[in-house]
Amino acid sequence: MVTATFRFHEELNDFLSRERRERAFATDCARAATAKHMIEALGVPHTEVGHLLVNGEPGSFDRLLEEGDTVAAYPQRADHGAPHRFVADAHLGALARLLRMAGFDTLYDNAYQDEEIVAIAGREGRTVLTRDRELLKRRELEHGCYLHAIAPQAQLRELSGRLVLAPLARPFTRCLHCNLPLRPVAKAEVLARLPESVRLTHDAFTTCDACARVFWKGSHHTRMLAMLGGAIGLESSLSSLASDNA
Ligand SMILES: [Zn+2]
Repeated sequence: MVTATFRFHEELNDFLSRERRERAFATDCARAATAKHMIEALGVPHTEVGHLLVNGEPGSFDRLLEEGDTVAAYPQRADHGAPHRFVADAHLGALARLLRMAGFDTLYDNAYQDEEIVAIAGREGRTVLTRDRELLKRRELEHGCYLHAIAPQAQLRELSGRLVLAPLARPFTRCLHCNLPLRPVAKAEVLARLPESVRLTHDAFTTCDACARVFWKGSHHTRMLAMLGGAIGLESSLSSLASDNA
């Protein structure tokens, strides 16, 4: 056994038992334990840690802890390596829809099991979104993000702060239901599927080839764009893109 002292910063404290929050504490570590092993044993998933200081110097997850080490862990704030393609766990359906609305490729199925989510993320190069810290401790998982917020719009804001979504956002270019890219479609082709009021007032439409839904820029579009703008900091010029979900 060796004894090392840990201090977790900012939102990483959410993962700790109450008596260990916002303070340095000493703990016994198994022989040959790495910094990563101990950080996860204390409750913090590796995906959530941005950088470490070991004895005041930049340290790595692979560090074998030695007697008297002090480890400071800081949250992941700008995960430049994380793909902007996502797989959301079964509890984040509303966030998945908001991400699709913003144009991000986001897989979601409330029947997904944990193994399946981790396998999809590895195979397709996706970032796992979850509020399940155990899922993020999976060794084979490379990129993940724990959402501290409960409300979907706050979750979107949190994710955007970490991965900088705004430059890659393409609002209303993806089907909210199927996650497939929408394609522009001629009015004549969809005329029979349009309500009378829309037929008279709109000329630009997109459609999803999987579910055959038709989208146009209605009042809903304006409200949703304002909401996305607030959550991920979109430029107002983006409002010239897009079509609407009626
Ligand atoms: Zn669809």
